[in-house]
Amino acid sequence: MAEFDIASYVSRIEANRSVKDALMQGLKTRRPPYRISVTDLLNLKQAYFRRKYPEIVPPLEKQQLMWAGTGFHKTFGSAVSSEEYLEQFVEAEGIVGKLDIYAKIPVEVKTTSTPVDTKDLLQYRPTYVEQLGMYCAMVNAHEGEIIIYQRQVEESPSTSPLIVYHVTFPDLKAIREEMRRRRDLLVQALISNDPGNLPACLWFGRQCDYAQVCDCATTSVQASHEIAKLAGELYVDSTTCEQLLSKMAGPRPSQPFGINDIVFPRKAYFKRLRLQEIALGEEVREEKEGHLRSMDERGFLDALRDSLRYGAPGEAQRIPVQHLPLVDLVQVWQDLPTILRDPKFSSLVERERLTRAFSHYFLRLGFDCALTENPKGRLLLYYARVPKEDAKLMVYDVTFRKLDAIKGEALHRVELLEKAGTALQLPKCPSWLCSYCDYRVECGEA
Ligand code: SF4
Ligand code: SF4
Repeated sequence: MAEFDIASYVSRIEANRSVKDALMQGLKTRRPPYRISVTDLLNLKQAYFRRKYPEIVPPLEKQQLMWAGTGFHKTFGSAVSSEEYLEQFVEAEGIVGKLDIYAKIPVEVKTTSTPVDTKDLLQYRPTYVEQLGMYCAMVNAHEGEIIIYQRQVEESPSTSPLIVYHVTFPDLKAIREEMRRRRDLLVQALISNDPGNLPACLWFGRQCDYAQVCDCATTSVQASHEIAKLAGELYVDSTTCEQLLSKMAGPRPSQPFGINDIVFPRKAYFKRLRLQEIALGEEVREEKEGHLRSMDERGFLDALRDSLRYGAPGEAQRIPVQHLPLVDLVQVWQDLPTILRDPKFSSLVERERLTRAFSHYFLRLGFDCALTENPKGRLLLYYARVPKEDAKLMVYDVTFRKLDAIKGEALHRVELLEKAGTALQLPKCPSWLCSYCDYRVECGEA
């Protein structure tokens, strides 16, 4: 199989000093205390302690439950909606949020292992309603849905695994006001290092990771749910529930591929095989790895990621790409497909060697560019191990030639992946990856 050499499709690489300087400057002068998210506004005290004590992390069992939840969100989302509507990032009033599904109206997906009392959501799960209310206010929608997936229904098989609530919010202005109030309260507490004015969380008294450091035993501001109280109509929407259940039970479209799968097709092949064997376990492990990685890279890299994802209004977009079964979103920043990577090298790679040293980055960026028909893309490299602060970040503007051929290779790989009977029929990953790879025995690279 002739190897596709992305280096020969790169016509120019320019180091973009002004973008690098602007990014560094923006990050250095970023106003403390960070970006506030919708989740922060649900439990202000917890948000405060999460920021002040990043070293406190939830115990493994709790994390595993969270990861399993994330796995469900992904699977459920792709079963009932399509990629361009999943995980939509929104920002308003300096507050950021991520909607699980947003086509016509915001939809929030929840998983729980405690059976939900369908009679009174406001009483038993006010934060679900609050979260949806905030998203509705952010996208100016007067109604939304909460989908609750109840795990462990085997014990009570008559219970439907899904419950759907339809909720209306007639007064979005009042919700926005309350959001601003909470945001300012949290910001003030962070600046003054004093959580005293923040209300205790709803599950005050139950097991909480921050119980050791929290002042909730001595402060008396009670949890309030002003936003939940602003909900108008709230009813169990059994029609939508039926539709969702039949969509989930219907013939499942084969799992789509992402752009990374065609950069590393053999890995994608093995991953699928293994996923079929142990559906959930693998997912949990991967989420765990992702989580640990992100813990590790917190700080500058996170802030950088944030700027690319949210940016100034209009600066950041995620463009859907669909060539079934390839479905993904391409990150576009300042009108260019942009990827951020963090090589583990302790010195910078010279420009002439970039395409060899990082062929997979160029392949990914090339695919992103070709699939969005953009000859130019941007590669941001953050070398965490380079000691000098100003030398850690490099920004390269990369121009590709023969976009059609790159796109052709992308689609060819999708086809190969779909049809491959063995991994050997697929292009290899970069050889350095093999020594760390779990599949090297099956792949014949051990
Ligand atoms: S100890 Fe209670 S009030 Fe404090 S952060 Fe945890 S749940 Fe919230
Ligand atoms: S062993 Fe190498 S080629 Fe095979 S899947 Fe792993 S990284 Fe890819």
